[in-house]
Amino acid sequence: MEKVVIIGTGCAGLTAAIYAARANLNPLVLTGIMPGGLLTTTSIVENFPGFPEGIDGYELMVRLQKQAERFGARVKFGTVEAVDLSKPPFTLTVDGEPVQAQTIIIATGAGHRHLGLETEHLLDKKGVTYCATCDGALPMFRNQPLVVVGGGDSACEEATYLTRFASTVYLIHRRDTLRASKIMADRTLAHPKIKPVWDSVVTEILDVKQDKVIGVRVKNLKTNAETAIDCAGVFVAIGHVPNTQLFKGHLPMNNEGYILPGKGSTTNVPGVFVAGDCSDHVYRQAVTAAGMGCAAAIDAERYLAAMNE
Ligand code: NAP
Repeated sequence: MEKVVIIGTGCAGLTAAIYAARANLNPLVLTGIMPGGLLTTTSIVENFPGFPEGIDGYELMVRLQKQAERFGARVKFGTVEAVDLSKPPFTLTVDGEPVQAQTIIIATGAGHRHLGLETEHLLDKKGVTYCATCDGALPMFRNQPLVVVGGGDSACEEATYLTRFASTVYLIHRRDTLRASKIMADRTLAHPKIKPVWDSVVTEILDVKQDKVIGVRVKNLKTNAETAIDCAGVFVAIGHVPNTQLFKGHLPMNNEGYILPGKGSTTNVPGVFVAGDCSDHVYRQAVTAAGMGCAAAIDAERYLAAMNE
């Protein structure tokens, strides 16, 4: 019987692990299919406190894991396939094996939102990608025009990163102002290689027949004019969807699938806590996820202490 099982190893999960481990709860931390979470796919993280020069996203996550393990957290590669939250102890099915837990901290984070185009799906990994840090340096993208879709911090970060490899980066955004923070937006728009394409959406990615990306069809939402842009890659950075499928029907969620927490990190199931991007549709920052992970571990610790009184 586990005292605390933490699902997810992003900033929320690993910070919860540090706190739970330091409270001598010997937490079991399950990585899911993406150990370290989405931050491992980021280049430089410039706004995590304590790193004035910035820190590589992957390195930050490795450090968090080491810190958690130093105090006794057990980080295990494993995917939770099913949960039974009907009564404590809760049962998780992890890679086919049952795991019983007195408390669970859900820190499953979020995944990339897709455009929803058929051609996007058909050309996935054939020029369509969701991660510039992972794929930007591939030979197929070198000295080629590339497209980034989106107007938030992620899109700006991806576009700026891709200027290292691309001849030109077209930033296609559905409005005429960026949603990104001012510092990121200014830096992006000032870059000579980045060409914004305002008020526009991608309607088709070309060319399925050639089985690789050679361009995109773009529609201007104000004029309805359709144009084509030649490119060797399409980097989609239009936000995220929470990884909460597993908990549908078990825990209350909003329309977008974010788990709705109760007081602090609590949920409507006593003993089940939630932290980070799977429940935060407002702030969605590494440091807020870490703070929520801390709160969830403290809530779990207090819950266990009250149970044993
Ligand atoms: P986001 O802030 O939600 O931005 C998503 C962007 O994609 C928006 O510009 C949105 O357009 C556009 N979009 C959404 N759905 C679309 C669709 N179906 N078709 C075309 N465009 C679509 O997401 P994000 O940029 O991934 O950022 C998520 C969070 O992480 C934010 O809180 C951000 O601050 C944070 N973040 C921070 C950093 C950093 O500080 N270094 C880096 C990356 C991310 P509209 O603007 O019209 O809604």
